[in-house]
Amino acid sequence: MADKFDVIVIGAGPGGYVAAIRAAQLGLKTACVEKWVNKEGKTVHGGTCLNVGCIPSKALLETSHKFVEARDHFAEIGIEVGDVSTNVAKMLEFKQQVINKNVGGISMLFKANGVTALEGAGKLLAGKKVEVTGHDGSVETYEASQVVIASGSVPVNIPPAPLTGDIIVDSSGALEFTEAPKRLGVIGAGVIGLELGSVWSRLGSEVTVIEALEEFLPSVDAQIAKEAQKLLAKQGLEIKLGAKVTGSEINGNEVEVRYADKDGEKTQAFDKLIVCVGRKPYTEKLLAGDAGVELDQRGFIKVDEQCRTSVEGVFAIGDVVRGPMLAHKASEEGVMVADIIAGHKAQMNYEAIPSVIYTSPEVAWVGKTEQQLKAEGVDYKVGTFPFSANGRALANNASEGMAKVIADAKTDRVLGVHILSQHAGELVAQGVIALEFGSSAEDLALTCFAHPTTSEAIHEAALAVDGHAIHMANRKKRK
Ligand SMILES: Cc1cc2nc3c(=O)[nH]c(=O)nc-3n(C[C@H](O)[C@H](O)[C@H](O)COP(=O)(O)OP(=O)(O)OC[C@H]3O[C@@H](n4cnc5c(N)ncnc54)[C@H](O)[C@@H]3O)c2cc1C
Repeated sequence: MADKFDVIVIGAGPGGYVAAIRAAQLGLKTACVEKWVNKEGKTVHGGTCLNVGCIPSKALLETSHKFVEARDHFAEIGIEVGDVSTNVAKMLEFKQQVINKNVGGISMLFKANGVTALEGAGKLLAGKKVEVTGHDGSVETYEASQVVIASGSVPVNIPPAPLTGDIIVDSSGALEFTEAPKRLGVIGAGVIGLELGSVWSRLGSEVTVIEALEEFLPSVDAQIAKEAQKLLAKQGLEIKLGAKVTGSEINGNEVEVRYADKDGEKTQAFDKLIVCVGRKPYTEKLLAGDAGVELDQRGFIKVDEQCRTSVEGVFAIGDVVRGPMLAHKASEEGVMVADIIAGHKAQMNYEAIPSVIYTSPEVAWVGKTEQQLKAEGVDYKVGTFPFSANGRALANNASEGMAKVIADAKTDRVLGVHILSQHAGELVAQGVIALEFGSSAEDLALTCFAHPTTSEAIHEAALAVDGHAIHMANRKKRK
């Protein structure tokens, strides 16, 4: 038997690496096991998020956005650049540099905090032992007082569109296209499908998104979703709702996709097809038969509110457990669990986890939507403010979208903040703080926001909750 640790974390994604760093900071002898290897065969930390998720997709989002700005919008503000073209190979190189800097940073943080990095596949055995199979096949077993499982998730594949690796790909493959496909199909109008679809649309692809649900973005506030759908359509993204993919066939260099909608069966040919129908928890070869950790019907590790599994001293966090599959949710659970292991009282506020859809403009929200509050029978009031009336947004030549604050009709407590705008993902942090601190709409309205900033739209939306917005005509009667 090799070393004994206070804590062993399995998986070094944003859940696992954060849990390991926090545990080490709290004085616990900590190891983190990771099996991900890059193209050079080197173990890399950061999981899905840093290697094939949040970070690389944002590198492409930013480069594709800058391209469209230069091609379509610079002239509007007096910058003449002539013909603008893309160099996708260079963009991919930039994306890889961004990944390398981020994953290298995690390895450095492990060293700085004294986290032992174990390379290979971890398996939980009975009695809180962790077996690690190295990339060379060597096997070592470690003992731990507490174990944290953070093994993440993988994309869901669907039988009608099996991946081919080149023409039909998942989200990871869609980050590797060496040129913009002329005709790009995306199955699934969820967060990842829309984000990747709009990246390649900006880079020149004709994009068709095929979505089985009738409603566009049902978890987003309906008013915001409707506006976002209009803007995406204006940008050229074709979104077919209520269209269920039933099959696909590779013909030479293209794929013919069959789908059924209300008018019957149809086919459409694409040069590339991205399957983005969701992700599932990843527990392959993770648990020994007698490990005792229970899974639910959908394969998630069962945990309580504080991420305790069915085995005492074994926790699970991030995408492999219930809740939104988001990097920041995984990280917050990592901090909570490390604090609990170190003997502190810790708890997460699952009501105040922000979500962002990184289209352009972005969609971001925290808290409840109008449709949720209606279904729950909560009496609420709403204030909205358009970015077309915000000075900074106009100066930024980015005046699309709106900010919306929803507050309890009786107590005025902020229940939800919803934003459609450039950098909405940054702005929504203000809503998260409001929810976290139990703020009222009036608290936000009485706060002094810097001018000129796009944040002022949130201030105005909070003022509008009671009909007091300054920079637009209020429809509501003032009290
Ligand atoms: C294209 C794309 C874009 C995304 N964009 C965003 C975004 O903008 N914002 C956001 O919040 N979320 C985003 N996500 C989701 C985000 O990546 C995940 O929610 C997040 O990575 C989950 O973190 P995690 O630590 O639970 O798991 P992961 O990041 O999946 O990490 C799990 C790690 O565990 C390792 N592992 C698994 N099993 C073992 C084992 N047995 N032994 C050793 N190691 C093991 C894996 O190799 C992996 O490194 C995106 C995802 C994708 C695919």
